[in-house]
Amino acid sequence: MKLVVGHLYPEYLNIYADRGNIAVLERRSAWRGIELDYRTIGLGEPVRPGEHDLYYVGGGQDREQALIAPDLAAKGPALIEAVEAGAAFLAVCGGYQLLGRFYRDRSGAELPGIGLLPHHTVAGERRMIGDVLLECELDPGGPQTLAGFENHAGRTHLDEGAEALGRVVSGFGNNGKDGFEGCRVAGAVGTYLHGPLLPRNAWLADWLIARALARRVGEVPELEPLPDELESAAKDVSAERAKSRGGRF
Ligand code: GLN
Repeated sequence: MKLVVGHLYPEYLNIYADRGNIAVLERRSAWRGIELDYRTIGLGEPVRPGEHDLYYVGGGQDREQALIAPDLAAKGPALIEAVEAGAAFLAVCGGYQLLGRFYRDRSGAELPGIGLLPHHTVAGERRMIGDVLLECELDPGGPQTLAGFENHAGRTHLDEGAEALGRVVSGFGNNGKDGFEGCRVAGAVGTYLHGPLLPRNAWLADWLIARALARRVGEVPELEPLPDELESAAKDVSAERAKSRGGRF
């Protein structure tokens, strides 16, 4: 079995351990006998229908976001079609913002988003920085927690009725006000959580792998469990830090 991953703009949006997230997807797939075929998708390169099972886009500063936004907008319809056809997608921070409808920076300039996720983002004055802990319930799967680190000036507002990735236990989340973090549509997940997101939240890596596999096997498969002692310990440290410090101005 093979999974094809399309990593969007790795040369521009890569500041938050994005390669580490890919490495986790690769390893956890390999441990189950699944080969991860890693491909990059750069500026001007087309997204071909049906080529990828899983997309990844990472975080970057406003400058890098501005450099890729028009190209991403052009790829938007193909990416939306891919998710509608069952592809999984993980978007982090700056990439998460551009999967929404738009990102407006401090000067008021607006970058187009692709509208895959139902939200918009407006930059605020103070950055929201710190450890985050979330409670999530993704389908399929029961209640879970996610621990990570956030660093963003953008305040993301979900559209009425949109599904968040989780509820904030500690930290700021989408906008520091409504208690939501991230956004989810079908197999696509956007989040501000970065740093080593997947290394310390192995269940989310497995959720993405399973959703990506569903495109090939017709249903979301049960993945063989892995001994995740180290991963769980890393997550516990991160969760404790979030609980004791959280993100605060
Ligand atoms: N435009 C972003 C912000 O809100 C960039 C987020 C990021 O990836 N650091 O700060």
